[in-house]
Amino acid sequence: MQKGTISVQTENIFPIIKKFLYSDHEIFLRELVSNAVDATSKLKVLAQRGEVTGEIGDTTVEVILKPDEKQLIIRDRGIGMTEEEVLKYLNQIAFSSAAEFLEKYQDSSVIGHFGLGFYSAFMVASKVEVQTKSWQPGSQAVRWTCEGSPEYSLEQIDKAERGTDIILHISEENEEFLGKSKVEELLEKYCKYLPVPIQFGMKTEYFETGEGDDKKEETREVPNIINNPTPIWKKSPNELSEEDYKAFYREHYPMSPDPMFWIHLNIDYPFNLTGVLYFPKLGNAMEVSRNKIHLYCNQVFVTDDVRNIVPEWLQLLHGVIDSPDIPLNVSRSYLQSDGNVKKISDYIARKVADKLHELYKQDRAAFEEKWKDLGVFVKYGMVADEKFQDRARQFAFFSNTEGKHFLLEEYKDQIKELQTDKHNKVVAIYTNDPAGHDALIQAAKRRNYDVLVMDTVLDNHWMQHLEYRAELGFLFVRIDSDTLDNLVQKEEAKTSVLSEQETETVKKTFEEIVKGGFGTQVECKPLAPDDAPVSITKPEFMRRMREMQALHGAMGELPESYNVVINTNHPLVAQQLVAKEQEAERNEMAQYLYDLALLQQGMLKGAALTKFVEKTIAKI
Ligand code: ADP
Repeated sequence: MQKGTISVQTENIFPIIKKFLYSDHEIFLRELVSNAVDATSKLKVLAQRGEVTGEIGDTTVEVILKPDEKQLIIRDRGIGMTEEEVLKYLNQIAFSSAAEFLEKYQDSSVIGHFGLGFYSAFMVASKVEVQTKSWQPGSQAVRWTCEGSPEYSLEQIDKAERGTDIILHISEENEEFLGKSKVEELLEKYCKYLPVPIQFGMKTEYFETGEGDDKKEETREVPNIINNPTPIWKKSPNELSEEDYKAFYREHYPMSPDPMFWIHLNIDYPFNLTGVLYFPKLGNAMEVSRNKIHLYCNQVFVTDDVRNIVPEWLQLLHGVIDSPDIPLNVSRSYLQSDGNVKKISDYIARKVADKLHELYKQDRAAFEEKWKDLGVFVKYGMVADEKFQDRARQFAFFSNTEGKHFLLEEYKDQIKELQTDKHNKVVAIYTNDPAGHDALIQAAKRRNYDVLVMDTVLDNHWMQHLEYRAELGFLFVRIDSDTLDNLVQKEEAKTSVLSEQETETVKKTFEEIVKGGFGTQVECKPLAPDDAPVSITKPEFMRRMREMQALHGAMGELPESYNVVINTNHPLVAQQLVAKEQEAERNEMAQYLYDLALLQQGMLKGAALTKFVEKTIAKI
């Protein structure tokens, strides 16, 4: 038996390995199974080239649990290693790359997905035994043993089969890895799509024998293969049916309804990336459902945290991306500046835009029908990504209170004649609450104005972004906004039927009632006789400020302010109110009209509402 010390230059790295990435101890299994799969793939390549003579036989990788002996074994029938190779690969290359990896990253916040390789075995094992026999004809099998110190031993052994057994003697602190369900869980998590069959024990299979009345259900034990070596993202789209894509989706996201559609990614230059991304049905629920995209590297699961790799707005998608070109063992800040990562996220964004545009062109009506769900992606993308915004204008819709959809340019053409203000901006009127704003919407319609529905948090950002792009020429005004008057006034320039003095009396009456709380103003305006006698509008600027504040978590610092607009051309004001000689009578009527206006906006509450109801009942 040969004994030796692994490396004299490097200090003892074993204590560091044991502590390293404490919470990520479990990755040892992925590293070792990946090595076994690599060794198997290499053998298959040699066989294809005709270098391995004879049948290569069954190449299933096996994970074997022996809890009584406190052993976990990873067995492959791959290329194996000769004695020289063991010394070279395990003592030198694997050891020094593990040492180098640790030296580089032990202090930084590491994604820590790959890098430790073979030596990660020492995170969980007090002793690691490698029994291996090379594929090369006439090879002598060897056993390499190391007990978590730089000393190792190497001896010749008898081993019938080609390939490698990695025997982990699990240490006391890591006995959880001797649990069947724990190992199953890890295999399911990391190894589910590895490209070579992986067996973990046996399972019971049911099958039928006999015919007719003799039909019987029987059971038999068969190898428990835990992986699917050809997941859909590795197949070509024309081999796959719609049902294949949906089945894969259901398997991964059993709680979600079927996706709307998907994109199959496949590119090998300038970087290598495959994957399938699904557009889930989100409705208006925009909570970014994170951890829904799974990142793989050559079919090995890496992480479901794809921040910094996939732009945030695309994290609404579900699915899988697989790329060997994403650096996996570096710090997050490095990732953000990595050229490949940037290219990959641009590529995905472009593919998403292409797919949406294609769907729009194929069937606009169907696209409109899905707009509620699609809009979330498109708007979020337009807010987050300028390049996407430019492309998305070809298929982004406004929807109005009648449920009609318009492309941005179409909409502009539709409304510009009536809804252009004096600064030559096209004023898009919107409601965030169609039910609550019904009266205002009706009034706008009487003027032949169109009203958009913008009722999600995202819509606010979206509108801001569209306004910000001056070349689009849009201005968005909420239907209860005071600036809407500018448009109306420009259109109609009504003259008041009241004299200046009468107007002043009306104004004073209302001011008395409203008693100017902060930012509450009374204005008299000669609107159309069929507009509401009293209405509440909100200063656009203040409202936006408040919304900004709320967004940044400083809720409620600016109190809500509003204007009470008196329509001096409404008969109730122009004829009845001014005709009342008694101040008390005038006040009572004004109060009633004011309460009605508040009520219509959902602003009449508490004691004021109770009083209003009581007064109304008394009048019936
Ligand atoms: P990596 O796999 O990234 O090269 P590792 O530290 O995991 O690094 O392994 C070092 C080397 O040891 C591998 O490159 C391979 O040559 C060899 N090796 C590890 N496991 C096996 C195995 N199961 N069969 C054959 N060779 C192996």
